[in-house]
Amino acid sequence: MPTHPTPTALTLPAGMRATRAVQALLSLLPKQPQAGWTEPLVEAALHEQGVPVNRVTVYRALDRLAHAGLLQRTVNAQRITHYFVVDATAPTASAHLECTACHQHITLDPGAAAVQAALHALREALVQSTGVHKPMLDVAVQGECAQCAGDAKPPFF
Ligand SMILES: [Zn+2]
Repeated sequence: MPTHPTPTALTLPAGMRATRAVQALLSLLPKQPQAGWTEPLVEAALHEQGVPVNRVTVYRALDRLAHAGLLQRTVNAQRITHYFVVDATAPTASAHLECTACHQHITLDPGAAAVQAALHALREALVQSTGVHKPMLDVAVQGECAQCAGDAKPPFF
C-alpha cells in the first residue's frame, strides 16, 4: 500500500474561535472520504476522538468554513449536503485580462482576495447548478489596462 503524507490541518479562518471542537475539526477535515464529508460523518468522527459536539455546532462550523472558502458545499440529488476541502495548492481558478487597446495580457494576482472570493462564488454556483465537481475555471476578462484607460496613448500607437 502506498503511504500518503499526513494531510495538514486547515487554517483557522479569521474571526472564528479556536475551540477544541473547531481545532479537532480543522485537523479532521483534510482526511476526507472520497465522497466528501457530510454532517453525520463529521459528527461521528469527532465523537470517536472524544470531542463532544452536537449537530448544530458541526453544521455551524462547516458553514463558517464554507463561507471562508475552505470548504466547498454541494447538495446532491438526495438533498444531502456534502462538504469538500478546497485544495489550496491546486490552481482551480485563474483570470486573465487582455487589454482591448494595446492587447497586452495581464494576469490578475491570484492572491487578490476580492478576485478569489468572486471566483470561489462562481465555482460554487457552477457546482450547485451543474453538479460538476471541482470545476477548473479560466476566466478571460476584456477591458482597458490602466495605461490605456488613462490619458496616455497605448504604447503601440
Ligand atoms: Zn492597454
